Amino acid sequence: MSGSKRVAVVTGSNKGIGYAIVRGLCKQFQGDVYLTARNEGLGLKAVEDLKKEGCLAKFHQLDITKPDTINKLKKFLQDNYGGLDILVNNAGIAYKQSSTASFSEQAEVTVQTNFNGTLDVCEALFPLLRPNARVANVSSMVSQFALKKCKVDLQKTLVDISRITMDDLKTLMKQFVDSAKKGTNKDIGWPDNAYGASKIGVTVMSMIQQRELLKDTRQDIVVNACCPGYVDTDMTSHKGHKTIDQGADTPLYLAMLPPNTTSPKGNFVSDRKIGKWEVTQA
Ligand code: NDP
Repeated sequence: MSGSKRVAVVTGSNKGIGYAIVRGLCKQFQGDVYLTARNEGLGLKAVEDLKKEGCLAKFHQLDITKPDTINKLKKFLQDNYGGLDILVNNAGIAYKQSSTASFSEQAEVTVQTNFNGTLDVCEALFPLLRPNARVANVSSMVSQFALKKCKVDLQKTLVDISRITMDDLKTLMKQFVDSAKKGTNKDIGWPDNAYGASKIGVTVMSMIQQRELLKDTRQDIVVNACCPGYVDTDMTSHKGHKTIDQGADTPLYLAMLPPNTTSPKGNFVSDRKIGKWEVTQA
């Protein structure tokens, strides 16, 4: 049965910034809010914790690296809501500085999760987006730092948003991973930064998505990438200075942008402000 009740989905929200985004949406959004997690037990526990605060989120399992779980969520949304109004792609990973995993492994796993996983979720769920839907892809300001470290020709390709296609971007991300395995990533213009490269992918993906959606018959769908700031979570080993609610502020702002928003739209946003995405000469 399909319905028209409004619905929001947040990926990787059993803890950290995603959890705070769900909490914020429960307070601000008129509709059902889905806390999703790859681990069902952790997800259900998070929903229980929110309930104690009076925030009534719902749960659906989702591992962004497992296409079968993405497809199950898609079917569930289609059958129960007939669409999707807010998608916050928050799930992500980062190896610790102290990790002993090889750069090759870090590049492969980080890009597979942060870039390919996020893109797979988008490719599955974007057909469900209703007019006025909002998408916030949680990237990082590390994408801006890593862009500056790319060779200028590569930077030029990555900022030429009117020209670069999603297939081009997929190829570039694959080239980064393949070259990291061979130790030749610097030769082809990429820095030794697996997380940064993966988040370049997320930022550019968001800009391409917005450009493509401008041609869509569904009106007023807005996609942005963002940085939550440096946040006190497991990912940062609790070194970040922002609370999870402060980190959730920009993603929530983007998820709740009012109808007919013209800006930010297809941008990279930090602290609610549009950030630069441009070539820096060395
Ligand atoms: P946490 O490590 O605290 O939380 C990450 C969340 O993503 C967890 O719920 C984790 O689930 C989930 N996750 C990881 N892999 C998958 C997967 N394959 N499928 C589904 N869920 C998954 O990180 P933060 O809250 O700090 O980070 C949230 C986002 O913000 C990330 O995209 C991160 O890159 C970004 N970011 C964070 C910054 C910070 O300072 N914290 C700064 C800039 C960007 P599980 O519990 O099962 O591991």
